[in-house]
Amino acid sequence: MNETKPRRFRMTRQREIILDALMRSESHPTADELYQVVREQIPRISLGTIYRNLEVLCDQGMATKLEMGAQRRYDGTTHEHYHARCLICDSLFDIPAGGVPSLAVQLPPEMGFEITNVKFEVRGLCRPCRGGNAGPRTRQKPS
Ligand SMILES: [Zn+2]
Ligand SMILES: [Zn+2]
Repeated sequence: MNETKPRRFRMTRQREIILDALMRSESHPTADELYQVVREQIPRISLGTIYRNLEVLCDQGMATKLEMGAQRRYDGTTHEHYHARCLICDSLFDIPAGGVPSLAVQLPPEMGFEITNVKFEVRGLCRPCRGGNAGPRTRQKPS
């Protein structure tokens, strides 16, 4: 997408509704999922408009784009936190940053690599996926 978008930020009513839907959702929704929710309040909104507004909100640091799973998702929680992903249903759960030991990464200085950001994701099985069947579920997943 390389349309020209205004650099100056304006909180429009549309944006407010989208941000509100995002912040109330705990599931890290995709644009499509947000579209279903927002449509109840703005029936004529298009999926493209949702995408554009999400981009702006991410640019403004009011939301975060998550590109870790199969689908791009959005996160309305902007304070530092990590994610746990279920390998079966692909749900994402928030882990408070304090629940994770410090992830100081030491690289050999001769590498000359400067770390600006570390991505950290916990993987496993969520409660419903664990409890769905009798006995533990084993599922082979290629890495
Ligand atoms: Zn699950
Ligand atoms: Zn999150």
